[in-house]
Amino acid sequence: MATDIKPDVRSDVDVVVVGAGFAGLYMLHRLRGLGFSTVVLEGADGVGGTWYWNRYPGARCDIMSVDYSYSFDPELEREWQWSEKYATQPEILAYANHVADRYDLRKDIRFATRVERATWDAGARCWRVRTGTGDEITCRFYVMATGCLSLPKSIDIEGADRFGGDIYYTHHWPHEGVDFTAKRVAVIGSGSSGIQSIPIIARQAAQLTVFQRTPNFSRPALNGPAPQAKLDAFKADRDAYRQAARLSQIGVPAPVTMVGAMQVSEQERRAVYEAAWNSGDLLPTTFADMPTSAVSNETFCEFLREKIRSIVKDPATAEALCPTGYYYGTKRPCLDSGYFETFNLPQVRLVDLRRTPITTITETGIQTTAESMEFDAIVFATGFDAMTGAIVAVDINGRDGLPLKQKWAEGPKTYLGLMTVGFPNCFLITGPGSPSVLSNMMVSIEQHVDWVSEAIDYMRRAGLETIEPTATAEAGWVQHVNDCADITLFPQASSWYMGANVPGKPRVFLPYIGGVDRYRKTCDEVVAQGYLGFCFEGASGVACNDGVIRRLQPDVTIVLEVIESLGLPPVESMSPEAARTLFVALATQRPPGPAVGEIVDGALPGAAGELNYRLYRPATAGPHPVVVYYHGGGWVLGGYDSDDPLCRDLCVRSDSIILSVDYRHAPEARFPAAVDDALAALQWVSFHAKALGGRPGPVAVAGWSAGANLATVACRLARDAGGPPVAGQLLIAPVTDADLTRPSYHENGERYVLTSAIMQWFFDHYVDTAGRADPRVAPLRARDLSNLPPATIVTCEFDPLRDEGAAYAEALAAAGVDVKHIKARGHIHSSLTMVDLVISGAPYREQMGEALRRYASAGRAASLVRAASLV
Ligand SMILES: Cc1cc2nc3c(=O)[nH]c(=O)nc-3n(C[C@H](O)[C@H](O)[C@H](O)COP(=O)(O)OP(=O)(O)OC[C@H]3O[C@@H](n4cnc5c(N)ncnc54)[C@H](O)[C@@H]3O)c2cc1C
Repeated sequence: MATDIKPDVRSDVDVVVVGAGFAGLYMLHRLRGLGFSTVVLEGADGVGGTWYWNRYPGARCDIMSVDYSYSFDPELEREWQWSEKYATQPEILAYANHVADRYDLRKDIRFATRVERATWDAGARCWRVRTGTGDEITCRFYVMATGCLSLPKSIDIEGADRFGGDIYYTHHWPHEGVDFTAKRVAVIGSGSSGIQSIPIIARQAAQLTVFQRTPNFSRPALNGPAPQAKLDAFKADRDAYRQAARLSQIGVPAPVTMVGAMQVSEQERRAVYEAAWNSGDLLPTTFADMPTSAVSNETFCEFLREKIRSIVKDPATAEALCPTGYYYGTKRPCLDSGYFETFNLPQVRLVDLRRTPITTITETGIQTTAESMEFDAIVFATGFDAMTGAIVAVDINGRDGLPLKQKWAEGPKTYLGLMTVGFPNCFLITGPGSPSVLSNMMVSIEQHVDWVSEAIDYMRRAGLETIEPTATAEAGWVQHVNDCADITLFPQASSWYMGANVPGKPRVFLPYIGGVDRYRKTCDEVVAQGYLGFCFEGASGVACNDGVIRRLQPDVTIVLEVIESLGLPPVESMSPEAARTLFVALATQRPPGPAVGEIVDGALPGAAGELNYRLYRPATAGPHPVVVYYHGGGWVLGGYDSDDPLCRDLCVRSDSIILSVDYRHAPEARFPAAVDDALAALQWVSFHAKALGGRPGPVAVAGWSAGANLATVACRLARDAGGPPVAGQLLIAPVTDADLTRPSYHENGERYVLTSAIMQWFFDHYVDTAGRADPRVAPLRARDLSNLPPATIVTCEFDPLRDEGAAYAEALAAAGVDVKHIKARGHIHSSLTMVDLVISGAPYREQMGEALRRYASAGRAASLVRAASLV
C-alpha cells in the first residue's frame, strides 16, 4: 500500500529502486524502515550485483572485508565473520544473500526484471517505470542503484563473434565455473579482473596468452587472515572505527600525512614505499602529494617498476609489464596474488598490444599485426562503461521529455552526484560527481542511501511532493568536481575515471576526488542550510533555496583548515614584532617553490639608507628582462625574502630577473617612507639593470598586496618625475584605497586570513587617518591615471581587497591605460602566493608570468625602436 503524501497523488509504490546490489539492498531496508512502500527491480535472478555477476576465478574485494561491509546494524556486524583479509566473490555473495534473508528483503525484489525506461509524468508527479517484461510501475521516487561498474564495455575487437571456441566474460562468468585444464587460453585485458584471474587460469591451462593493452600498477595483496591490529581496533570500538571510516579520505580509517615525497631523503622515501609494498593494502598512506605532484608520484612509479623488473625474469616481458605514460593511482591500482610471478611460468606468455595490436579474432584464435595464434578459449576481461553506463542504458526522460542521455551528452552533470536538474525525484546512488569508485564503496553507498532516505522522509513530513536541484547549484557542483580533479594528476590519464576506455564517451573526470570526509560534510551542510541548492514543490507552490555549496578552490579550503587548526592569535591583537616573528615562522613551513638559475642577495641605496634585495635569475641564457618586485605584508610585515616561492615562480614563468626589494616598514617608519624607498629602488634598478645582468631597457614592476600598492604608486611617481620608464605593472591583489566599506570587505572580511581587522591594523600602523586619502596611499584616488604603464591586475574572489582592485582596473582603463583584469575564482588574498601549496593558483600564476613576458617583449621592441632612431 503506497504512503499518501498528497491525497490526489496516487502511485503503485512510493519508491522504485533499480538494482539489488549492496546499494539497492540497503536502500530497500532503509525505506521500509521509514514506512515507504518500495519495490526493487533487478535484472539478475539473485541479489549481490557486482558479486552476483563477477564470478571469475580469483574474484575478490581489494578493500579489506572488515571495511568492505555494511555498518548500519551492529548486530549484523557481530554475527558475520569474514574468513580472510580480502573475501572471495562467493563469500561476499553469501554475505549479500545473508543480508537479504536477515532483513527479509526478497519479498520486495522482482528478480529477472530489467528496467528499460523511466518517464517523469509531470501531471501526476510520478515516475512511470517500464520493464523488459512490458510492465509499468508508477512511483513517486525513482532511485537508480544500478552500480558504477555494472555495464560491461562492449567488445570492440573485430571478429569477436566469429570465434568457434569458448568465450567467457569476467563480468558474466558461468555459475558452474569453468575448467581450463589442457586448454589453450587467451585472456584479453589486464585491469583488476584480469590481474585477479590470470594467476589462477595459468595454473590450470596448458597455455595462457595474456593480451595487454595497458600495463597496470599492482602490488601483492598478501591475503590471509585480516590484520590483527585492524580487527582489534574494530572490536575495541566499532562505532569509533566506523565513524573514522566515514570521516576518512577514502572510506577506510588510515593515517593522514602532510609530508611530500621530496621533503624526505631518498632513503626515507624508499622505506615508505617498501612499507607500502609490504602492506598488502590497496591504499596505504605514503606521501601527501602523491595525487598532485608529478615529480613525487614518479618516484613511486619507478619504485614499482623496479619491483616488477625484480620479479619477472624475462627482461622484455618485465619491461612490457611496467606501466608508463600515466601516474600511479590515476588509473585504478590493483592488488594481486602472484600476478607478475605468473609470467615466469613456461606456459604463460604476454602479448603487448601497444607493439602488436590485435587485427582480428578468427574462427580459431587471435591475429595480431605480428602473428596468428590458436586458442580453445578466450576470456574477455575488458572492463566497464563506468559510472554512467548503467544509468544512461535506461531510457530516462525527465521534465518536458528531456532524455537523460541527451542532457549528459557532453558528460554527466549532477548536484552532489545525487540528482540532476530536470529529473525531479530521481536519485542516483554513488552517481557521477560523488566519491563512489574513489572510495570504499560500502561507506559511500551507506552515506548516499541515508541521505536519500532522509530527504524523502523530510519531504513527507513537510508535505512536499518534488525535489530537484537548481541549475546554479548543479553548475557550481560540476565546477567544484572539476576544480578538485584539476589540481591532481588524474585528468592526465586515459582512464575509465575519465571515460577514456569507451570509444566516443566524453572525456570528463567522473568521480568526486575531494574525499569521502569532505563530501559527507558537504552533503550534511546542504541539509543544514535548508537543502541549499534544491527546489521543492508542494501544495503551497515551489520554493527554491538557490546557491552554490562550495565556491572556494579545494586547496584553498585545505589551507584555511590548516590555518584554523593552528589556533593562532589574531594578528591585530599582536605587537608588530610578535606578528613578524609569526610571519617568519609560518614562512619556514611552506614549500620552497621552483628552482631558479641563481639567487643573489645584495643591497641598494634606498631613500634613507641601504635596502636589501634578493635577485632571482632564470636558468636560461641571459640577459633577461628585469622586474622590480615589492613584497606583501601590509607595510608592516615581511621583507625582501618573504615572498620567496612566488618570486621563484614568477622568475621561471616570465623568464625574467625578479629583484625583490626591501622597503622601510611601519610603524617604525610610517608613510611615506615605504613609498620613498619603493621609488628609490625602481630608479636604482632601472639604472643598474645591465650591471645586474639584465637586459637594458625599461624594467617592469610587480607586487602583492601592499607591495602592489607600492608598485603602482612608484609607477605614477616615476611618470610624474619623467622617468624611469616602466614596461608594465603586475599588481596582485593590490591595496588601492583605504576604504574598508566596500562589499568585498563585508563579504570576505572575517573568514579568509586577511580580515578587515587586520587591514585596519595595517593602516593604523602605516598612516594617519588624514593621510589615507593621499594618492600615494590610495592610488585609486589619484586625479590623473593616464599615461601609466600597461597593467595586469589580479583580484581574488574571496578577498576583502577584491572590489578596490576591480575599481582600480576600471579607473586605469577609463584613463586609457592598457589593463588586463584577471579574476581568480575561488581564491583568497594570499592563495596565489602559495606556490606548490595552492595548485589551483597555477593557471593564474601562468597568466601573471605571461603578462611579464609580454611587458618584456614590448619593452624590448620600444628599446629597439629607440636605438634604431638614434642610428
Ligand atoms: C570485480 C569487482 C571488484 C570490486 N571490488 C571492490 C572493492 O574491493 N571495494 C569496493 O569498494 N568496490 C569494489 N567494486 C565496486 C563494486 O561495484 C561496489 O563495491 C558495489 O558492489 C556496488 O554496489 P551497487 O549496489 O552500487 O552496484 P552493483 O553491485 O553493480 O549492483 C547494481 C545492480 O543493478 C542491476 N541493474 C543495473 N541496471 C539495471 C536495469 N536497467 N534494470 C534492472 N537491474 C539493473 C545490476 O544487475 C546489478 O545487480 C568492485 C567491482 C568489481 C566489478
